[in-house]
Amino acid sequence: MIRNALIFLFKIKSFFVQFLVFACSDSRVCPSVLFNFQPGEAFIIRNIANMVPPYDKTRYSGIGAAVEYPVVHLKVENIIVIGHSRCGGIKALLSIKDNGSLGTDFIEDWVKICTPAKETVNQAHGDLSFEEQCSKLEKEAVKVSLENLKTYPYVKEGLEKKTLTLYGGYYDFVNGAFETWEA
Ligand SMILES: [Zn+2]
Repeated sequence: MIRNALIFLFKIKSFFVQFLVFACSDSRVCPSVLFNFQPGEAFIIRNIANMVPPYDKTRYSGIGAAVEYPVVHLKVENIIVIGHSRCGGIKALLSIKDNGSLGTDFIEDWVKICTPAKETVNQAHGDLSFEEQCSKLEKEAVKVSLENLKTYPYVKEGLEKKTLTLYGGYYDFVNGAFETWEA
């Protein structure tokens, strides 16, 4: 557990389940290790590149259900989406060819959720190296997921009633840094 993660947690932590956490499936970024969550403290969703698709009842029902349940029934008060350094899913997104041809059955189709972030990075940082663009995209993709969360009616309602707060997070395990921001 690194220091900034501890500080973030202490600022908002209270006794009951308070967190819905989106993190990458990457074994190096386990939220329970990062935050030292105890049983009952966090509802955790892990997938490739910690992505949240926009509200869509015809696709991604696994994610939709995993947003609906903790927000509507557990009444979590905080949602945090944590991006991380050296993310393979983000690398896959940045590697998708401009002609749209895909080389995997599922991976690229999944990470395309954050194509708007890729477009932002291409426009603002197209001159950087591939690795540097990946680093930028790891954070931009979190921002897209946070915006996508706002398309779920119960999340939108929670934000309007101020019963819910959204946070972005970025864990750089290469440099041992953790940063958060309120969305
Ligand atoms: Zn990852």
